[in-house]
Amino acid sequence: MNNKLYGNLIFELSHPGRRAYSLPENSFGNHTLPSSCKRAKDAELPECDELTVVRHYTNHSGNNFGVDNGFYPLGSCTMKYNPTINEEIASMPSFTGIHPHQPIETVQGALEVEYNIQRALASITGMADVTLNPYAGAHGELTGLMIISSYHLQRGDTKRKKVIVPDSAHGTNPASAAVCGLEVVEVKSTENGLVDVNDLKKLLGDDIAGMMMTNPNTLGLFEKDIPEIARLVHDCGGLLYYDGANLNPLLGIARPGDMGFDVIHLNLHKTFSTPHGGGGPGSGPVGVCEKLIPFLPKPHVCKNENGFYIERAGKKEENSVGDIHVGGYLGNFLVILRAYTYILTMGKDHFKEVGLLATLNANYIKECLKDDYELPIDMLCKHEFVFDGLKDKSTGITTMDVAKRLLDYGYHAPTIYFPLLFHEAMMIEPTENESKETIDGFIKTMHLIAKEAIDTPDLLREAPHNTPIGRVDDVLAAKHPILTYQQLVNDKGEES
Ligand SMILES: *Cc1c(COP(=O)(O)O)cnc(C)c1O
Repeated sequence: MNNKLYGNLIFELSHPGRRAYSLPENSFGNHTLPSSCKRAKDAELPECDELTVVRHYTNHSGNNFGVDNGFYPLGSCTMKYNPTINEEIASMPSFTGIHPHQPIETVQGALEVEYNIQRALASITGMADVTLNPYAGAHGELTGLMIISSYHLQRGDTKRKKVIVPDSAHGTNPASAAVCGLEVVEVKSTENGLVDVNDLKKLLGDDIAGMMMTNPNTLGLFEKDIPEIARLVHDCGGLLYYDGANLNPLLGIARPGDMGFDVIHLNLHKTFSTPHGGGGPGSGPVGVCEKLIPFLPKPHVCKNENGFYIERAGKKEENSVGDIHVGGYLGNFLVILRAYTYILTMGKDHFKEVGLLATLNANYIKECLKDDYELPIDMLCKHEFVFDGLKDKSTGITTMDVAKRLLDYGYHAPTIYFPLLFHEAMMIEPTENESKETIDGFIKTMHLIAKEAIDTPDLLREAPHNTPIGRVDDVLAAKHPILTYQQLVNDKGEES
């Protein structure tokens, strides 16, 4: 790509007076806005011809990396293939053209989709009912914790203000608990990376609202003590919350409901094959056990002999946590539709293969690479696993260097420096979709990088070399993001 010609910012290509459109002559007369509605100064918008605009954005789109471009082993994110048929269904005008305020009898088909996937997800997870309203996993966590809080409050059990979260948990877990007004208590992991049941016992008491768990956890390990953990949490009066971001390896094989979880969330944009990355749109349905059904948010899609209808919050005596977003609609419908398409096209039998293949692929990579990369917990993993940097620590080459060098070879980097349990964490999740050749190619490249770390370490320290932008200052980018063109100009001091 010729950066000079097409520019990094559309503003840099602007020429006063250039236009990418021509409108027919105005035959309607002039209608001026009242000055109270007008801005003081014209907006500074880029002025470009049509081809410049098209080339600028087309070239930028080529700088994007996604599952459609190459291998994307980003652990904990389940970057799995998003079948094109999902997109075709989600772009059908009969779905995209409907409005949430339409009369109920005109949207029976859309409500049927919502109702059916509520039932399908309940059946897949072993829960009694499911709400599709939350917009993301983190939003689902908040909704689930609101349900847990409401349950205790409704019983007059006002002391329960603490939520137990494992030290291996995803950052959204403690954040959601805090947003819900609950206090976070951390439970340690054993050296095998599982929840330390003895440490847990010390934390349990009549002030515990519940415990959040991811299973398999963020190290990709199945929490085999889950029956005992569920019993302990329930015996102390708490509820058990399942972070379903790692459901992929269990699909069709094991169900959180059967493990004793009372509330769960799923990430449709991870496990159920809808595109993500870059912040959305997502969908984080929440499932609950029988006794928590009255607390589910509204609106909720239900069915009676006349067809599908929407149950709304309102009655004072209801226990529902109510609307969980402005507008009170039924979630990100097109994301839900993609997930529904995925479930139907897979079918019950093929569903069972997802978890098996995801687990096989992860274990294959782990075993092939563990001589070059340090494997702190050498156990059978599920869909993902964590290395703690290169095995040979004498080179000084970090996980960051390895991740950057992978970009040169055309791979998206794994998740790095998470979970926080290991200094040089590198979390790899291949998913079930990849061919043996793709996985072998990745393994070969990882071996090559381990060799480069010894032979040509500077090559790694300065990587990436083949990408449009070299190594960015992550800290500066996070602490001092420049989000507007105006600000960029100001910071350079070139313009006021
Ligand atoms: C992705 C993820 C979340 C948060 O989900 P979002 O949809 O990104 O809000 C929570 N927990 C785990 C383990 C995750 O991987």
